Amino acid sequence: MSDLRELYQEVIFDHNRHPRNFGVLEHPTKVAHGHNPLCGDQLTLYLTVRDGVVVEVSFQGQGCAISTASASLMTEAVKGKPLAEVEQLFAAFHTMLTEDPTEPRSDLGKLEVFEGVREYPARVKCATLAWHTLHNAVLGTDETAKTE
Ligand code: ZN
Repeated sequence: MSDLRELYQEVIFDHNRHPRNFGVLEHPTKVAHGHNPLCGDQLTLYLTVRDGVVVEVSFQGQGCAISTASASLMTEAVKGKPLAEVEQLFAAFHTMLTEDPTEPRSDLGKLEVFEGVREYPARVKCATLAWHTLHNAVLGTDETAKTE
């Protein structure tokens, strides 16, 4: 189990040091902002959605290692996916971090590196910020996503 934890931490460190899909999209069809006042994490998410599919996604911002790594892994996870699947991922990710660990849930692949975050409620907000922001972007709300 500790080997797995180390591996998970390694993935988080790597995505924090070298965030994937980091930057501004040229012609996004959706943009949303996210802010986690508790930790000070801020991010802007850019999406290009065509025919209900996320064709391009990127983010910019500043935050702690967990929020940056989570945003990075999220962009990898949703790129090329239909919006319906993206919403399912959001729901499953949220369930993994907030609900009873013994409850059955869908397989989240690489995103499971954040499972241990559940033990630190303040950090859950860091890990879910990018997802709440994505959710708002998909819905097209202009409001800034807040974790509070
Ligand atoms: Zn944070």
